[in-house]
Amino acid sequence: MNKIVNNIVFLFLIITLNMLGSRSDSQLRSLENPDKQTMRGESSKRSDKLLEIPRKKLNMRLYTEQEQKIQDYINSKAVTISIIALVGVYAILIFVIVALEELMDETEFNNVSVILSWIELGILIVFILEIAVGIYAWGLMKYYKDKWLILDTLIILLSLFFVIFELADQKTSNVVKVIQAVFRFLRIFLLIRKAQTFRRLTTISTISTPAEKIVRFLLELKEVIELESMKLDIDYCIDKIGSNQLYQMGKLDEDNAEAMGWLNQSQQGRTDVRKIVNNDQQQQQKKVLANFQKLNIPKRVLEILDKQHDDLYIDPFECDKLSAGEGLVYLMLFLFEYYNLYEVFLIKPKIVRSYFEEVTKGYIDNPYHNRVHAQDVAQTCNFLLNRCKFIEIGQLDEQDIACVLIAGAIHDYGHPGLTNAFLINSKNDLALTYNDQSVLEMFHPSQCFKIAWKNQKANIFENLPFQKYRRIRESIISMVLSTDMAHHASELAITNSRVTSPDFEPYGKDKQRLMDLVVHSSDVSNPTKNFQIYKEWTERVLTEFWSQGDKERELGLPISYLCNRYTTNMAEAQLGFIDYVVKPTFSCVQGFLPAFEPYFDNLDKNKTQWQELIGYYKQQLASIQPQ
Ligand SMILES: [Zn+2]
Repeated sequence: MNKIVNNIVFLFLIITLNMLGSRSDSQLRSLENPDKQTMRGESSKRSDKLLEIPRKKLNMRLYTEQEQKIQDYINSKAVTISIIALVGVYAILIFVIVALEELMDETEFNNVSVILSWIELGILIVFILEIAVGIYAWGLMKYYKDKWLILDTLIILLSLFFVIFELADQKTSNVVKVIQAVFRFLRIFLLIRKAQTFRRLTTISTISTPAEKIVRFLLELKEVIELESMKLDIDYCIDKIGSNQLYQMGKLDEDNAEAMGWLNQSQQGRTDVRKIVNNDQQQQQKKVLANFQKLNIPKRVLEILDKQHDDLYIDPFECDKLSAGEGLVYLMLFLFEYYNLYEVFLIKPKIVRSYFEEVTKGYIDNPYHNRVHAQDVAQTCNFLLNRCKFIEIGQLDEQDIACVLIAGAIHDYGHPGLTNAFLINSKNDLALTYNDQSVLEMFHPSQCFKIAWKNQKANIFENLPFQKYRRIRESIISMVLSTDMAHHASELAITNSRVTSPDFEPYGKDKQRLMDLVVHSSDVSNPTKNFQIYKEWTERVLTEFWSQGDKERELGLPISYLCNRYTTNMAEAQLGFIDYVVKPTFSCVQGFLPAFEPYFDNLDKNKTQWQELIGYYKQQLASIQPQ
């Protein structure tokens, strides 16, 4: 019994020692698979290509194709899991040996231990092979960059020696027996280290978008090269990837072709999602029209909503006209009833009505950024939620649905009809308040939470438990912030990479990102609609832009992109907007919502319509002259 206690104390010491080891090991950041952090996984092919030039230039160790294949093989999931399984078996084996030694008498134990030693020998040989192959693939120096691996190897070799010794000669001296016991425990040290490595590898393999991986890769590259100018270049790359300037709109130079390549990666992930959709063919028939009567929605409006609440081709201008300006209120009342969202907020319809009446009042009567645009975006969100089955694919619950719809409804609240750039350049109060950061996108939700908390009769959030309120608030703010075009390209690149990633989880860790994209894509969805409605929106948005351009001219500020009424060809501008913004966006949407596919063709149809109008707008431009 005493011996067992001693053993446990010894084991404890080993674990402590090991903890210390793993800390310094993480500081070194050089693990047993030296290239793993940056170059492995699904992006390995691309990063290896990236590596080709700098490696040659910088005399870094060049791996042959075969060595790289072996590295990939060692790092593959199957091999890693097999090794871990083996470690598990080895752990059990060691404990069985220790236990049996205590419980059995010597002759009995000796008989059993022969079989166990053979098993142990087999396992140790596999470990030795793993080390040998690793050394072959990475080279001796790089493999043993982590000094703890030397100890691991030593333990394995000595264990091997003792097992062979034990098998060759059963009658060992007492001294050898003591050394053997010590090594048995040192093997436990090895097990803990292997388990830690596995934990670290699994964390590494589940994190990050390609952008993060590239940054991490560049940082490591920077560590190993000596050329200062190259280090500066790497800093530049990291800076550009980290900022949102990688695909800055408006500068359509030859880099753009590459940018488009980066953005258009959404095709691969499609089949999996399609499966989800096909499995869920039955349409939910929610509620009969009669249930909506109590909402006091004008009959004609109710009929339209009943038929077209999730239709991409609903006419928002007609709805607004028939609703006498209350279109947003009726839409939200209808959808709250349709999805039974009152239960999320534990409120009555009249609170919802009051809240969206307040929201509607807050929309300024701009040509474009007005209440009809808000209603249009909220309704397009519902098209993606319901008709395109985002609810099923993202497994959205009522709370998620409510957040998406509210974000769509409030996303331009109080919009002054001026862009962030103008507000910043003219040192507007809003820019000063929000420190030039997503000025309007910060302002809209901020105001919409204020109107709720300042008016009890319109406070849809009042009955929410605090934690739930926090989650809803966070989700809505995230979605409204996603409508800032400044983050469009970088966020889209990341979402694309998530949609095509093998561990893409539209119902799990990727859900909020997709909800963000649903709201953002709805915000730029005009080109996917009927040309007539699309054209109306285009004329409106340019009217708004041009009036900003006039202000900029007056104030002597630089005239923003598309804001010069004397030079902007409406048709040409839309061709660029479709190609560089809307197509990549909906191509990504289609990657996780395949039901959008039939609508994607509208983009090309509408492009053809604009192409035919280029000449007309050229004439128009020629006929007007700046004063
Ligand atoms: Zn908008």
